[in-house]
Parts: sequence; structure tokens; C-alpha cells
Amino acid sequence: MRRGKRLLNMLLLCAMLTSLCACGKDEKNTKNKATETPVTTTVTPTDKPVTPTDEPTVTDTPTPSPVPTVSPWPEEGCDILFPTRDLYHYDMNLQMDPEKRTVGGQVVFSFYNDTESTWDELCLRDYSSLFVDAETAGYNRDETRPNDYKPNGAITEITNVKDSRDDSVLTVNRDKDVSVVWLKLKTPLAPGEKMTLSYDFSAKIPTVPDRYGVYKDVYNVTNFYPILAEYDENGWSHEGFIQCGECFYSEVSDYDVRLTVPEGFLVASTGTETKKESNGDVVTYTFTAPCVRDFVFSASNQFVYKEADYDGVHVNLFYPKLIEADEYWKDSPFGNATDAAVETTLKAAEDSLAAFGEAFGRYPYEELDIIVSRIDAGGMEYPNLIIITDQEWYPVITVDPSSMEKPSFFTLETCVAHEIGHQWFMGIVGSNSGMEPWLDESITSYTEVVFEEYRSRNAASENTFSSFMRLSREFRDMRDVTQLQHIMQRGMIPFNQSYYEFNTDNDYISAIYQECQRALYQMEEILGRKEFHSIIREYVRRNAFTNSTSAKFFEVLYEYAGKDNEDLNKLIANLFDMERVK
Ligand SMILES: [Zn+2]
Repeated sequence: MRRGKRLLNMLLLCAMLTSLCACGKDEKNTKNKATETPVTTTVTPTDKPVTPTDEPTVTDTPTPSPVPTVSPWPEEGCDILFPTRDLYHYDMNLQMDPEKRTVGGQVVFSFYNDTESTWDELCLRDYSSLFVDAETAGYNRDETRPNDYKPNGAITEITNVKDSRDDSVLTVNRDKDVSVVWLKLKTPLAPGEKMTLSYDFSAKIPTVPDRYGVYKDVYNVTNFYPILAEYDENGWSHEGFIQCGECFYSEVSDYDVRLTVPEGFLVASTGTETKKESNGDVVTYTFTAPCVRDFVFSASNQFVYKEADYDGVHVNLFYPKLIEADEYWKDSPFGNATDAAVETTLKAAEDSLAAFGEAFGRYPYEELDIIVSRIDAGGMEYPNLIIITDQEWYPVITVDPSSMEKPSFFTLETCVAHEIGHQWFMGIVGSNSGMEPWLDESITSYTEVVFEEYRSRNAASENTFSSFMRLSREFRDMRDVTQLQHIMQRGMIPFNQSYYEFNTDNDYISAIYQECQRALYQMEEILGRKEFHSIIREYVRRNAFTNSTSAKFFEVLYEYAGKDNEDLNKLIANLFDMERVK
């Protein structure tokens, strides 16, 4: 997720008004075919925009330490192979009814107990039920949210829950947190044992401009079906829902999905469309999605799309026709800037896939879909699919438009890069994003730096990277504890704390999206860019398609960099609580 578009848009609108007044698996797949800022929008009266004068800067850039070359480690641009182990499998037969605002159907879920504990009960996460009201949806935490966030959802109906081993019908028990569903098993599931769980469900789609909701005829249908929670060393994970960030935590699975929608609706989804059948006034899409943590889709009878192929990855860009009729666009001195927005989005996608493929290992899926629709963040990530808010498509109007060759966009490219970065850090390498958000959002925020570095090396504009760093990422020497007083006082350190431990959402956003991004960039400065990328690439290789932990990150880091690097040790000692890293 990339946060904070609301203030940005206020700023852009103000800028525009000012301007107007005065005059932005395994080897089994061969080559495997082969999800918020500018972060400056977290600004509050106590969190001033960063400027070169209000924040210490580094005057002596650390000299990269000699790092041993470990030859067996993966090379730049290596392939990322799907795992050889059996994966969980979801077979879903779904229908979306726009009239009733419902999505539902039948799920047949085959899985096995991959832990050393016997499971007496199962835990499902049913996030769609949270949208029964604004409180449970988490909307009331933000007083600046407009009043149009009235989710009018409903508790998801989950029926006919059966365990195929003994044909038992399981009772659905919800916690006070309605997203937590328990199923008591009549026959416990022993370690290594397989079972098939089948259930029907019907979920209500809320009328909110959000990652799960319908707004102006675009249906973002995400985290909509009851999904098996993750079982880790603490048992079944069922942490509270986070509207400001993510708590999604699941196992990589194979999906086969048939989805029926009214005729005229285009659907973008996780995975690849393999069939489309019309039957009267409905159309059924068939999708296959191997080796992903979740299945989501967006559907609309207003979508138009563009497609492109970048190094073997098919990229589809979907955006609503109505975007051109938006009041903002009508008032813009640029008139219709859609073509420029499309071009900018696709170019950012192309460069992101190239930059991250080189640095972390090539994108292992056939397809990537980009949805442009209004959501309550800059962007949001899902497996094989990202959502970018249409507000990112507003051109920047801070200078005389007649002096610009074409419209430019404030943070659109960074937002696209960020969400695509999540394909590696969420999609390929999973983690408990609520409990260890730095592994998810901070490393992904660091991918923005990788993206800008790639562009500065490959694009015509030589100043891209330096201006990116100057404008939004003023450097702070995080080895110097005196330079960290401000964030220490706000409880933003250690970075490896859970979302639930930060004092405020703003502190969480500042620490995880900005400060820890800086820390990772400083690790790069200390170790050297190529060397740090090697470390991350090896981290991806070792943890691909599993759920990682902070310990697994530091294991690779220390294995490569050693434990006697004074600069690195100072940095880590200042910023991370290594007592938690076990
Ligand atoms: Zn993110």
C-alpha cells in the first residue's frame, strides 16, 4: 500500500487554483511461464515536510566496505523458480451481482497441515465482514476522511462448511472481531495430513472508494472470500484488521477460478484468463493463478484497457472511461491528459519490472494487471494485480501549463514502482505484514530507490535519481544517535515493531515508509549498491513463496556482510531491536 493521497490532492488542487487565479512452481513451470505516499503526505503539524534546513544531513558519505563475493549466490537478473512442494489449492466457482452488490459462490479448498502441531480447529479470515460499518472497517480512525465512507456492507454468509474426510458439517463461530472465523474440526488434522474443506459464501460489496468496494461502477473485489489464516509459531494468526496498512498473511496456493459477471463487464484478476464464455446476459471467465497468496479481481462495465509486453510479462492497464469526465479533468488547462497518464503508467511498469528483475530476480509470473480506480490510498498491491488511485492520474499544475511540453504527474511513477515492488515483497516473499511491517512496506519503499537508481542509469534524464533523493528522501546519518532524537521521542524505533505498537498511524507511516527506507538506503551506501542488491536477491531466493521473518533477513545480511562491519553494526544497533530477532 502507498498512503496519503488526500492531502496530496488538496495540495495539487490548491496549486491548480493558485495557478488559475494567477494567470502529477519449481521447475514445473520451466521459466515459470518461461500493494499509499508522496510519503510527505503524512505531514502533520508536528511532522513538518523535510527540507534541507530542518534536518541534519550527512557530510561524509560512508565508504563502501569490501564485501566478499559469494559466487554461488544468484546473479543479477536470475530466474525465480516456483517451489517443488505441493501447494494448497483453491477451486472457486464465483458470481458477482452488481445489482445486489454481492460476490459469492462455492469454494473447494484442498490443503495439508504443514506444521508440527495437530490442528483441532481451523481459523479463516473473513475481511469482507468488517465493512458492515465504518467502525469495524477502520474508517473512524482518520478524522480527515470524507463523510462519503459509509461502507453499508454486511456480515458474510458462510454456509455448507464440510470436511471431506468424515463428511462432517462444521459450525461457523465468529470472534468479537467479525473477521475471525473458527471452525472446530470433528476429526483433528495431524501434521502432514491432507484434507479438503468446502464451503459456500456470499459477501456484500461496500459502496466505498477503496480497495474493497464499488465506486463509480468500478468493483474492486479484494480480500473478499474466507481464506485460511496462517499458522505460525504463535498458533493461528488473527491480528486485528489494519485500514491504514495491511495485516494480510497467508500461504502461497494454486487457484482455479470461474467468475460469472453480467455481459459487458471486463474483469482483471490475479492469474491468467484461460477462457471466456458468454451465456445469455452473463459471461463466465476462467482464470488460473499458480503460486499466489491470494486471488482478487476488479470488474467494471466502464473499463477500457491497454496492453503491452515487457520482457515476457504481459501487462494490462485497466481504467474507467468515466475518468475523462471527472470534474477535475474538465477544469484542467491540459484538458484530457489520459494519453499522457497511460504512457507514464506503462513506462513506470516497464522500468519497474526491469529494475526489480535485475536487482531481485525476474518476475516469475506471466501477467501483471494495473487497475486505475479511486481507492483510499495512493495504491494497493495484490498478487499479479495492483490498484493505483485515479488521483495519481491528475497532472501536476504548479507552473504555467503552456510552458510544459506534456502533462507530468507528481508521484504516479513512484506509486506504480512501489506497488510493483510489492510483487517481490509481499507476493514472492511473504511476511506477517501487521506484526513485521518493515519486511513488507519498508523493503518495498526501498524498491522505490532501486527504481530511481535504475532510471538514472538507463533513462535520458541524468538528474532523476538526485532530484528524487533531494526532493523526498533527504538523507540522515542513522549511525549517529543524536540525529535520531526526533523519531526516538515519537517511539518510531525500533523499526522492527508491529503496527499495533506505534503510537499513531502517522508515526507508523513515517517510520515504516520513510525512516526505515532511509535506513535500508544507508545499508546500501555502507555495503555498496551491487553488494546490497546481492544480499536482497539471496534473501528473495531463500524465502521465495514462503513467509519470512526479520531473523531470516538478518541471517542473509550478516552471512554476506559479516558481523564486524562497524558502520553497519552502529546502524542496526540504533534502529532495530535485535532481541526480537530470533
Ligand atoms: Zn506498500
